[in-house]
Amino acid sequence: MRVINLTFCFLILVINPDALAAVLDRDSRWQAGSLIKVWFIDGDQQDHQLVKTTAREWTRYANIEFQFFSNQPDSSHLRISFAHYDGSMLGRQPLSKDRNPNVYLASITHPSIELTKKKRIVLHEFGHILGFEHEFLHPEWPFGNAWLEHQQENCKFRLESQNTNGKPELCEQLNMPLTKASIVAFPFDRLSIMQYPVPAKWLDGSFEPIPDNRQLSSLDKMAAAISYPETQPANKGFRFINRCLEPVTVSYDIANDVSRSGIGAQIKRITLKPMESSHWYQTNISVDLSLRAVSHSGSYHWRSDSEPNRYLTVPKTSWSSGTLEIPLFCSY
Ligand SMILES: [Zn+2]
Repeated sequence: MRVINLTFCFLILVINPDALAAVLDRDSRWQAGSLIKVWFIDGDQQDHQLVKTTAREWTRYANIEFQFFSNQPDSSHLRISFAHYDGSMLGRQPLSKDRNPNVYLASITHPSIELTKKKRIVLHEFGHILGFEHEFLHPEWPFGNAWLEHQQENCKFRLESQNTNGKPELCEQLNMPLTKASIVAFPFDRLSIMQYPVPAKWLDGSFEPIPDNRQLSSLDKMAAAISYPETQPANKGFRFINRCLEPVTVSYDIANDVSRSGIGAQIKRITLKPMESSHWYQTNISVDLSLRAVSHSGSYHWRSDSEPNRYLTVPKTSWSSGTLEIPLFCSY
């Protein structure tokens, strides 16, 4: 991935809201460690169970917890309905006594939709809930304008066909690439759960479609962990943690060194055994950290997907607390 939006987006709840978001406000992340209260307004026990077990996948990586209620609680952050369509608000929501839904997961109740697809929809919508935007709005989206223009046309068609009073300009606004200034951007990741499947005909310069990703990618997991860190230990600086069952080699650099000495001059490499942590590297906290990593089998990479030779950057805004743990997860 990955884009976590520093702006508040809402989804228009009268038409397909998944494709409609508007940038309104700054930082949409919940506070790390938050307990998010979720009320199922309707749906049956089977629907609730699927959402609970799937949404909790995010909490394996992000320091966040969900508390689910089938009966109306005193107050809630999220209110899920299984009616209408799939869509959600973006990011942090207030604790409220409101009885109106702010998340819709209609596909979950459709018997014709296969289980892995339903899980993908839940993971994707809960990604929005954690503040993650669509991957195709990433400032480093490498495939030209065709897909975004197609999204805009789809959006306008829905506005017209469903006879809403939304203005066509809204569709352009909602499908505008995000700017680096408004977001915390992790590297572009075509395997992200926040990316739609896209046929190759909409991808300039690519003959390969973007697949229908059905699980969190390695970079999704890393972005979740860095965006919602565990309670910080007393250490200052950064360290890497290999969460895979095979050795991983990490190459890293600190932006200060790059600017002073040129890329490559200060690259450092370490190899971590399965589940091993590096020691803490003490450093100036107000810098970006550049890194690449590869597992020894070559099956897993952590790097910029748009330019594989480029290092990915963990922006300094991601570790303003002065401590940064970088977990390298594999897809299991
Ligand atoms: Zn979406």
